[in-house]
Amino acid sequence: MTDRYASFVRTGAGRALVKRLGLPDPPRLRRHTPGDPLLPGPALLGAATGGRLAEPVGRILTAAGVELRDQTGTVPPDPTAGGEQRTPAAGAGQGREAVDTPAGDAPTRPARFGALVYDATGITDSTQLRQLYDFFHPPARAVLPGGRVIVLGTPPAECGSPREATAQRALEGLTRSIGKEFGRGVTAQLVYVTSAGDAGTLTGLESTLRFLLSGRSAYVSGQVVRIGAGGPGTPVGWDRPLDGQVVLVTGAARGIGAAVARVLARDGAQVVALDVPAAGDALAAVANEIGGTAVQLDLTAPDAPTRLADHLADRHRRVDVVVHNAGITRDRTLGRMDADRWDSVIDVNLSSQERINDVLLERGLIPDGGRLVSVSSIAGIAGNRGQTNYATSKAGVIGLVDSLAPALAARGISVNAVAPGFIETRLTARIPLVIREAGRRMNSMSQGGLPEDVAETIGWLAWPASGAVGGNVVRVCGQSLLGA
Ligand code: NAD
Repeated sequence: MTDRYASFVRTGAGRALVKRLGLPDPPRLRRHTPGDPLLPGPALLGAATGGRLAEPVGRILTAAGVELRDQTGTVPPDPTAGGEQRTPAAGAGQGREAVDTPAGDAPTRPARFGALVYDATGITDSTQLRQLYDFFHPPARAVLPGGRVIVLGTPPAECGSPREATAQRALEGLTRSIGKEFGRGVTAQLVYVTSAGDAGTLTGLESTLRFLLSGRSAYVSGQVVRIGAGGPGTPVGWDRPLDGQVVLVTGAARGIGAAVARVLARDGAQVVALDVPAAGDALAAVANEIGGTAVQLDLTAPDAPTRLADHLADRHRRVDVVVHNAGITRDRTLGRMDADRWDSVIDVNLSSQERINDVLLERGLIPDGGRLVSVSSIAGIAGNRGQTNYATSKAGVIGLVDSLAPALAARGISVNAVAPGFIETRLTARIPLVIREAGRRMNSMSQGGLPEDVAETIGWLAWPASGAVGGNVVRVCGQSLLGA
């Protein structure tokens, strides 16, 4: 459904009113179109003294076609070229105005950046946090609309001393605040990268940077993403990162599920789209549009897991990616809720996912290196009045990720969830107007997200290149204040 307020504030009269009254000012978000450059401008890359990631990150960004600057605003040497390599170092040019001219030339105009990327892994004590200020303060007002801020750290649990763990944990406060402060569709994320990594860790870092820097992550901000080990890194065709993958999407007839089916098919997947028989026509239309197949099945039927497994075995012999998206709401305050509302929501949103995972795993249909991605909700993080059943089911989905991810990691099967905030679908169109408006505006983007925003995030977690990205719950909520 359309956000009339957002459309109005983009008119001349709307702009004037927003300025005069200090009203929310939803920016136009930078969303992905195939063929787009990763960023709207050059990236400023820096590192704390002793950082271990700036060099591989420099290589990843250069390979992705990103123009790199260091803190002087100059272009550092190509890190992929042989010979002596220079990593943009912390402290270089501190306090100097960033310029977009080569070193030695007279400054012309201040440089503007598509992204600020900072390797903070070298910070081992709170007294060294000053390096964050030194890096981010000069360009803080020079990030382009729709720009990206990424801080890289070491997971606190892996740190060698309490002081290092303390300093690394502090990075969250910086990134979440930048997400709230910079505005104009700029997003900010913290990426914790294991220090005990393998080739798959670097591939996972690359897939994550390619997602977070691009327009695919338009409505993801203030998130902490963890990258662990990922086995041997596999070569990836980044234009079609899901080429040849068989993907099951539940609840694919409309809303977020239909967007997931479309986005994953665009990225090369062969999509098996599933929904209830009553949604058969809409489901067939989605499946035809993307050259996928349709399965009409009520996930809560006792024989649903076996029928689904039989279908996947007969038609595809496997399923590389399972996207558990189907979900329902049956809202009532707890005192007024009948048992049917409770049971149906828990069964569709949580128990059916468990039953299907069990059967697909037991029958060996999910190969090593497979992906499970579930759709949770910020209601599962924050709770919500009138949604005890729904919030219980969606918190349970997070429990499923926490418990299953370590159990399946040895087989290279990653388990993650996305937790959407306010997304413009039929589900949210039913919310009463005043609550709907509050839901739309109470986030750093001052607007609701689109089904495509959730779909792009699921796509990234589903990529074969994202094997090292496991056990995460990534909110797609524009940095909602709920459960923050
Ligand atoms: P939607 O109601 O538009 O779509 C849900 C789909 O799931 C429908 O096509 C429905 O037929 C299907 N489905 C329901 N029960 C099923 C069953 N038993 N078997 C098979 N299919 C079934 O909802 P949506 O907004 O697209 O939501 C998709 C997912 O995202 C849900 O899990 C929802 O809880 C979650 N979510 C949505 C929002 C939002 O703002 N829209 C926010 C947070 C989480």
